[in-house]
Order: sequence, then C-alpha cells, then structure tokens
Amino acid sequence: MTASTHQRIAVIGAGISGVSAGRMLTEKGHEVVIYEKEEKPGGLIRCDRIDGNLFHKVGGHVFNAKNKEVSDWFWKHFDRNKEFIKAERNAKILLNGKMIGYPLENHLYQLEEDTVAQITRELLELQAKGYKDPFSYANFEDFLQGNFGEALYNLYFKPYNEKIWKVDLSTVPMPWLEGKLPMPDYNKIFLNNITRSGEKEMVHSTFYYPKQGGSQFIIDRLAEGLTIKSNTPVEELKCLEGQWYVNGEGPYDKIIYTGDIRQLPNTLQLPSTKQLNTSTAKLFLNPLNLLNSPNSLRSNSTSNLLCYTDTTDLSWLYLPEADLQAHRIIYTGNFSETNNAPGGRKTCVVEFSGKVSLDIMKKEIKKLPGNLEAISSNYGASSYVIQNSDTRSIIENLKKGLKPLNFHISGRFAEWEYYNMDAAMEVTMKTLNNNFV
Ligand SMILES: Cc1cc2nc3c(=O)[nH]c(=O)nc-3n(C[C@H](O)[C@H](O)[C@H](O)COP(=O)(O)OP(=O)(O)OC[C@H]3O[C@@H](n4cnc5c(N)ncnc54)[C@H](O)[C@@H]3O)c2cc1C
Repeated sequence: MTASTHQRIAVIGAGISGVSAGRMLTEKGHEVVIYEKEEKPGGLIRCDRIDGNLFHKVGGHVFNAKNKEVSDWFWKHFDRNKEFIKAERNAKILLNGKMIGYPLENHLYQLEEDTVAQITRELLELQAKGYKDPFSYANFEDFLQGNFGEALYNLYFKPYNEKIWKVDLSTVPMPWLEGKLPMPDYNKIFLNNITRSGEKEMVHSTFYYPKQGGSQFIIDRLAEGLTIKSNTPVEELKCLEGQWYVNGEGPYDKIIYTGDIRQLPNTLQLPSTKQLNTSTAKLFLNPLNLLNSPNSLRSNSTSNLLCYTDTTDLSWLYLPEADLQAHRIIYTGNFSETNNAPGGRKTCVVEFSGKVSLDIMKKEIKKLPGNLEAISSNYGASSYVIQNSDTRSIIENLKKGLKPLNFHISGRFAEWEYYNMDAAMEVTMKTLNNNFV
C-alpha cells in the first residue's frame, strides 16, 4: 500500500458489521477508529455472564456461513476444531401442549388426524396447480397461503410470524423476502412425512458455536488489536472540505456507518447544497428526508429473559400460539456446557417481541415447559427490521448519494435488511471491495 492509498477511516458501531469492517480494513493496511456507544463491542450479538451463566442479551446466536469468501475470511481468525462446536439443530414447535417436529410441514404426521387430512388435501391441490413465480404474489400472506394452503398458514405461519413482527403479513412486500422464502417442495414434504426422516437442508440445520463465551467470543476475537472507542455515542458526523469529523475528532478520509440509519438525518452535517454537485444533492437529500417521515422504517424490539430450565435435548422451541406471549425458547445452555454455571441447572433464553415487563415475563414462563426460573432480563430496543415496499429504493438512493462524499453504509440497521451475522459480513466485504483499495 502506498502513502496515497493509505486512509484514515472512522467506523460507527462495533456490532459484527462494524468490527468486521474494522478488521478487514486494518488487514488492508488502513488506519481505523471504531466508535461504539455501548461499553463493549457486540451490538445484537453481545453476551454477559450472570451468576456464571452466559446471557445472550438478544436471542441466542449461532454461526453458519453460506458464502465461501465469508467463510474463508471468518475461519482465518479462529481454530474451528479447537474453539468451536459443530452442532445439529433440534427444533420443535409447541402446539396444543404437544412438541411437534420442525419444520412443521415435514412432521404433519404428529398432528391431529382431521388437521392432517385438511392440510394434505390442500397441499395436493397446490401441487396439482404447480408453482407460481414467488414474486407474482402480492405480499407475504398471499405467498404463504398460495404455497402452503390455508390450514398450515393459520396453524403456524400466520400466528408465528405475526407474533415476531407484530405486523399484518399482507403488508410485508415480496422483494424483501428474496433469498429467504420457505419454498415448499411438495414431493419432499410427502416423502418426509411417510419416511419420517425429519429435518434436512434447513438454514442452521447444523451450525457452529464457540466452546467458550458464545457470540461475545466471536466479536472479542475479531476486535482484538482494533482501536475501539467504547461508551462513545456518535452525535455529529461533519464533512468539511472533503474530510470527515466524528464528534469533532478527525480528520477521516472515509466513514463506514453501521448504526441505525434513522438517526442519520440528525447526525449528519454536510457541505451546503451549493457545494454538493446537484445530482449528488438530489440523490442524497430526497431519501434522507424520507427517512424522517413517520413509519418509513419500522422495527421491532425484543425482551429477553435468561432462565434456568430442566434438561432437554432441544436447541430451539417455537411458540406460535396466541395465548403464549413468548415466541421462542433458545436453549443456549445446550449450545455449550460452559454457558451454564458449574453444578447448576441448564439455561435458556425466552424471547418476547416488543417491550414486556419483567413481571409479565415471569408470569408467562409459568405457562412454558421446563420449570423455567428467571435469572436476568434485557430489552433490545431494535432487533427486527420491517421493510416497506419503498425501503430498498430509499436505501439504495441514499447509498448512491453518500458514496461521492466517501460515506458508506453497511449492516442490519444501516441498510434496513434482515441480515444474519454471515450476511452482515458479506455485505461489509462487498462494500469494502467496491470502495477501498
Ligand atoms: C433475536 C435474534 C436472533 C438472531 N440470531 C442469529 C443467529 O443465530 N445467527 C446469525 O448469524 N444471526 C442472527 N441474528 C442476526 C444478527 O444479530 C445480526 O445480523 C447482526 O448482529 C447485525 O450486526 P450489525 O453490526 O449490522 O448491527 P448491530 O449488532 O445492531 O450493531 C450496531 C452497533 O452500532 C452501535 N451504534 C449504533 N448507533 C451508534 C452511534 N450513534 N454511535 C456509536 N455506536 C452506535 C450499536 O450500539 C451497536 O453496537 C439474530 C438477530 C436477532 C434479533
């Protein structure tokens, strides 16, 4: 790298997107400072120890990379065999007090006979009709009904998805779901039900999990040696004569922003529109104004309760039914033995969508299996992003408008995309490949 290609870069946010960006840029020889508002890196994947038990503060994170470049880069930083456990997913769905295999369509034989008859009739009719292009459906509700039938939709897909997202599924646009759609293979559904061969080819059907420290171990390793300014909320990003200043510190040649994009209009201070070239100003200012409009970008929060549980062999238990407020139990104590305090009971995280008080969570867990006992709770103000039909175009235009100013956005809340950790790393890699030497 020559002196002219060496750059000073500020990264906003030390979640997996920001820390990966910092690591990748440092490996390219750039000088990087990461700003993080919380006391330690991690964002959604952060974990704490409570009385010796590991608490995934938001859900429970396991790792799987579909993209080879991401997988190669990631495993360069870890000893896969010594530091990680490769585990099989063992998920179930609680319906009418019965544990049904996951995914539901492959375990129909475990349901009541009348329900199975109705679902089978509908699936056979749908198979006879043949597949329609997924993107010819008007919305997510139409897609699910059109592919799985009314009975399966009403039994599982509707109540579960509505519980998590707290939105009417008919308002969820199809393009958002590209690459994530649960396309049914009718022949396989029938075969799986007849042969009872269980769960295969699902996302995270096998996954990697750190032997020690959960996902905090991942972020801490990737953050090693990087300059991270913790407890530093970024309140001002100012562009002066082509250079950037973060809360007055700088200058930086470039900014990578991985925080919540909705905060950008209040954080950015740009050259006057006269100084910006007109097409950049247009591309930039229009979407920026749209970010300010109410309901433009919706998100959901989650409340998480770390609990003791009876021993089970499950990894996840899905809770679609409306009379249970929680939507999922993640048996994090089964991911690694070190997640449980020595000699104590096993642990799990019970996840609730939205803000739920500790009192209510404590009452709700009494309805769940496993004699759950609360240890600690956490509220994550933004966990799930919800796209509208214009979200992608707003973000794309914003990216185009910001690029000439050497300002790049990457990550779940910066791009308003439903990324997993590996996808967050993949887009970060793409952003850097496209914009940095
Ligand atoms: C319940 C749940 C379960 C999940 N399970 C999995 C899983 O098993 N496997 C998987 O791969 N993925 C999983 N995911 C997805 C995964 O959590 C995300 O893809 C990933 O953590 C997103 O990282 P990020 O860095 O883009 O965003 P974040 O983690 O939100 O990081 C952004 C960071 O920026 C900081 N920040 C924001 N604004 C500012 C500011 N103004 N100044 C300074 N700092 C700021 C924040 O504090 C935060 O640390 C799950 C998500 C949820 C909600």
